[in-house]
Amino acid sequence: HYAENTHGFVGADLESLARESAMNALRRIRPELDLESEEIDADVLESLEVNEADVKEALKGIQPSAMREVFVEVPDVTWNDVGGLEDTKERLRETIQWPLDYPEVFEQMDMEAAKGVLMYGPPGTGKTLLAKAVANEAQSNFISIKGPELLNKYVGESEKGVREVFEKARSNAPTVIFFDEIDSIAGERGQRQGDSGVGERVVSQLLTELDGLEELEDVVVIATTNRPDLIDSALLRPGRLDRHVHVPVPDEDGRKKIFEVHTRGKPLADAVDLEWLASETDGYVGADIEAVCREASMAASREFINSVDPDEMADTVGNVRISKEHFEHALEEVNPSVTPETREQYEELEEEFQQAE
Ligand code: ADP
Repeated sequence: HYAENTHGFVGADLESLARESAMNALRRIRPELDLESEEIDADVLESLEVNEADVKEALKGIQPSAMREVFVEVPDVTWNDVGGLEDTKERLRETIQWPLDYPEVFEQMDMEAAKGVLMYGPPGTGKTLLAKAVANEAQSNFISIKGPELLNKYVGESEKGVREVFEKARSNAPTVIFFDEIDSIAGERGQRQGDSGVGERVVSQLLTELDGLEELEDVVVIATTNRPDLIDSALLRPGRLDRHVHVPVPDEDGRKKIFEVHTRGKPLADAVDLEWLASETDGYVGADIEAVCREASMAASREFINSVDPDEMADTVGNVRISKEHFEHALEEVNPSVTPETREQYEELEEEFQQAE
């Protein structure tokens, strides 16, 4: 129970929590003691029992270190690091990068710049990667918040968290605010994680912030979900997260391009054919393909390290190649995330969502 309620706490925060809880217990059993100056008798300490209320009280006063700062970063991901997804990249470029780069065109054409984009698709398909790439290419700062973290880290103060995020974004503009797994905070009523009205308050704060963003204020929100059907529809209305971008499971051509990204600069044997790899990996998403490439490199390294005299490594390492067999081994190790059944489920959800728009 305590572990669940202390997200974002580092060791030092937990130590403070333990100390404060014990102090609360002491105050409870010996209200007359002046804890600042009096020595506490050993027998008092021995009989001391910390109860749940003591810990709850202590929790109120301790803010987890990890959340004291909203981190602003400038990502180093570029479009080149994202394999395939050409249409998706184009959509994002037009929606986010253009208004920042060419505001005069948008004014002249009387076009509204987007304030919010919802990216939807199964996990591991490159949504985070795309958001970082668009922020980098638009020379924007990037603030990344995971939905579940927002709920957990700001124990009882999630709306304040949302407000702080937008404040920080404004003062660092141009900024892309990235809300990952937004369904965990902004799912339709009753669907939210551990709902106790928190979700409701966070959604209404998010709406207030989105509505308060002036056009061309150079703050854009990108939210992601793999359950677009669960998002509170108020968030999807015009002027809010009204641009919807699908990030699909890659097809064969997409997979080949993702293999290109993740084998770039690696010493591949001539027999390794990316088209063959793409044809063997139906159901693998980008994250799986990255894992396959990592596993194949590891298999090649393992073989080399175990077979070569350490004194000769420096001279012979230049000959190491990742072979077709290494990839075959990797394909056995790494399973596709998307099975035919889950693919069907995603496709149904996505279709329903598109029709409802
Ligand atoms: P999502 O946000 O959709 O869950 P991520 O963007 O976090 O997925 O992807 C996880 C990792 O998988 C990335 O860091 C990257 O290495 C790899 N990956 C996913 N999609 C792609 C892609 N289209 N091209 C290249 N790498 C990808």
